[in-house]
Amino acid sequence: MEQLNWYYPEDLSEAARLISDGKKAPHSGGTALIRRGFRGIQGIVDLSRLPMGDMQVRSESIEIGAMCTYDHIIREIRVADPGHVLVQSLMHSASTPLRNRITAGGSVAAFPAWSDFIGPLLLLNAKVALIGRETGTYSIQDYLTQRGLRAGSLITRISTDNYPHSGLHHREIRTQVDYPAFTITITFTPNPEVFQDVRIVLVGNKERFYRAEKLEDALNGNPVSHLDSIETKDFFQIEFANRKHGSGEYLQHVAQVNLKRMLMKIAGEKA
Ligand SMILES: Cc1cc2nc3c(=O)[nH]c(=O)nc-3n(C[C@H](O)[C@H](O)[C@H](O)COP(=O)(O)OP(=O)(O)OC[C@H]3O[C@@H](n4cnc5c(N)ncnc54)[C@H](O)[C@@H]3O)c2cc1C
Repeated sequence: MEQLNWYYPEDLSEAARLISDGKKAPHSGGTALIRRGFRGIQGIVDLSRLPMGDMQVRSESIEIGAMCTYDHIIREIRVADPGHVLVQSLMHSASTPLRNRITAGGSVAAFPAWSDFIGPLLLLNAKVALIGRETGTYSIQDYLTQRGLRAGSLITRISTDNYPHSGLHHREIRTQVDYPAFTITITFTPNPEVFQDVRIVLVGNKERFYRAEKLEDALNGNPVSHLDSIETKDFFQIEFANRKHGSGEYLQHVAQVNLKRMLMKIAGEKA
């Protein structure tokens, strides 16, 4: 076995220099790195000594240092806003020990199909700050879809919008500790009369993520009774790969049913 060197940078410029050759892997929580193995990696750059573990929650924005763990994020936001979409999505994720390890930066970089983090970030218009081969701030969509932004670059911070909302998050799991086959995340402004500022995203389909903009347009501003006349499948024909949870066709049907249940909940109906 080849020797694997570990590096422990103490400041961001040293980390950027180490990462920018694209041959060394940043190590945050290590939960995905250990799964993928170390083939093709010439070194590991431990990020634990870098100043990336702080968070600021403001009424209009949230700043998350890349080394903040899921548990840290939940604790910081829950105090002010227990219904916040990041609290709703992360509090049932993985398991307690894992939520103490999985980091914001590692999760965005790894982006597994079962991510409980990416859906809320897409709805909150997240931006990712990078150093290394690429330096600058990029939308989360660009970071996830442009391979060139990822190799040789380090995520230092994630910043998001914040706005008054209620959050709902569905995890399609078979047991409590299962990896979700997909997730559906919704934010909305509670209003007993009309659908107001409903935003919907699904993560885990064939194209990795899907923002249901046509369905949002069909709902927003309309009376909640309008839901009776909406067939979610008309707006939600997204494709899924076959997974251990079931065939792609089955997962598509399950996603449509669960989305309808979530919308019924928003409309104040018994789902
Ligand atoms: C059993 C199990 C169950 C899980 N269940 C869930 C779940 O239900 N929901 C969920 O959301 N997640 C879940 N996860 C976590 C998920 O699968 C990933 O392991 C996790 O998101 C990776 O985060 P990390 O901090 O451990 O990253 P690491 O393993 O440290 O890194 C992941 C990748 O990103 C790179 N990287 C790390 N940090 C950075 C950075 N700052 N900038 C750029 N690149 C970086 C690494 O080199 C590596 O390629 C689960 C994990 C396990 C092991």
